[in-house]
Amino acid sequence: MTATAELMDYDDVIAAFDPVMGMEVHVELGTVTKMFCGCATAFGAEPNTQVCPVCLGFPGALPVANAKAIESAIRIGLALNCSIRPSSQFARKNYFYPDQPKNYQISQYDEPIAFDGYLDVVLDDGTEWRVEIERAHMEEDTGKSLHMGGSGRIHGASYSLLDYNRAGVPLVEIVTKPIVGAGERAPEVARAYVTALRDLLKALDVSDVRMDQGSLRCDANVSLMAKDAGEFGTRTETKNVNSLKSVEVAVRYEMCRQGAVLQSGGEIIQETRHFQEADGSTSAGRRKETAEDYRYFPEPDLVPVQPDSAWVEELRGTLPELPWVRRARIQAEWGVSDEVMRDLVNVGAIDLIIATVDAGAKPEAARSWWVSFLAQQANSREVELSGLAITPRQVATVIGLVDEGKLTNKLAQQVVVAVLDGEGEPEQIVADRGLEVVRDDSALQKAVDEALAANPDIAEKIRSGKVQAAGKIVGDVMKATRGQADPARVKELVLAACE
Ligand code: ADP
Ligand code: MG
Ligand code: ZN
Repeated sequence: MTATAELMDYDDVIAAFDPVMGMEVHVELGTVTKMFCGCATAFGAEPNTQVCPVCLGFPGALPVANAKAIESAIRIGLALNCSIRPSSQFARKNYFYPDQPKNYQISQYDEPIAFDGYLDVVLDDGTEWRVEIERAHMEEDTGKSLHMGGSGRIHGASYSLLDYNRAGVPLVEIVTKPIVGAGERAPEVARAYVTALRDLLKALDVSDVRMDQGSLRCDANVSLMAKDAGEFGTRTETKNVNSLKSVEVAVRYEMCRQGAVLQSGGEIIQETRHFQEADGSTSAGRRKETAEDYRYFPEPDLVPVQPDSAWVEELRGTLPELPWVRRARIQAEWGVSDEVMRDLVNVGAIDLIIATVDAGAKPEAARSWWVSFLAQQANSREVELSGLAITPRQVATVIGLVDEGKLTNKLAQQVVVAVLDGEGEPEQIVADRGLEVVRDDSALQKAVDEALAANPDIAEKIRSGKVQAAGKIVGDVMKATRGQADPARVKELVLAACE
């Protein structure tokens, strides 16, 4: 589908309207078992192998809440500065969807486990923005529909398959209060919020927060309010925006689209919209249901969750150092400027660098690998840094091999590319490909002699004192040894041979 919507110029949108946003983030918890049954939650298993009567909605099957999931939900609530409800009831949210076999989803409605919190996020220029949290509640995920024989969308498919492995996986949905007053920074605030939330959830170790695998999913609500209007405009909800960059793009697109509609005297329809990764546009989905449509009622098969305050306080004690506090501490340790630090954070490198340092690498080297060579690789492979198929530990190993003099930087880059291509562990790749630096002077000497013999005029120049001319010979020797020689040592040998 291509974007046919009229778009208003962004600056004109800002001049005429105030954007209002609301972010809904679903996070799949990393529990071993599902929310209300003992089925496994591992990602990528054979379809319909992680199911049972409870998550398939068989008559008479009874759910039991997963204590670990409740613990994670409480920790998330506490980390978001929320109040924890002493007694919260699950509710049935009734709707038909083929990938939801019960015909209702167990969620929380008027008694979310956590409510009224906030998250302070840091914008690109270092200023803080407080995003207020409305609620964080527990629910269960749906299964997955796979539309076959077409483009993958339901339209044009010849049949659909259902995989219920994901049905019943624990989710926490985190909903913000309306974000008002961000003006032209609205798209940036939206991205910064989801980034901070992702980092926080990761530090809490409650989820693997992989946007690409759907374990962190973001819906962006956007509306525009005319400058003189006293009330919010009608919002749209753009679903499943699957990368941090896309959050920013989607909000900006909706602002420009809605601006054009309102400017021409049209009305915004309250609807869900789909984000198109390919061109950054959104397209109309379904008209939005209201809460009444779902006929929520208290789930009769589950007792209320009543965490006692001693347990809540105990969980508060397990909260990790917040990612941004940790960053401030690390910044002081490394002695780098605010600006450098911010750049590292913005390119998504900071946690990777910290982890690489924790795995034994020097901060300088860890930094330089992630922001230059690995950043280029991420760019050309069109993934985020954190999506590269290399772990900080593997990067630290490669850096270690360079430090020991076993690899030159060039060779190390070859090893890293091989790791990224899925060829295995760095040491193994070095061994398999015989990539280690040639330390054997006699082998090098032979290559040096050959290169000199092949270039008698250059050899003569070097002999007559034109030391710069050695560069060409060093280059030839490096080529002959497939980059496996230490160039400094080669140069010494060339000069010695010409004395
Ligand atoms: P729904 O169930 O319809 O998705 P939620 O309450 O779960 O509703 O989420 C709605 C989100 O949209 C919240 O983050 C809320 O703060 C935000 N929101 C509410 N009204 C507006 C509006 N007019 N414009 C933008 N965002 C809004
Ligand atoms: Mg919602
Ligand atoms: Zn089950």
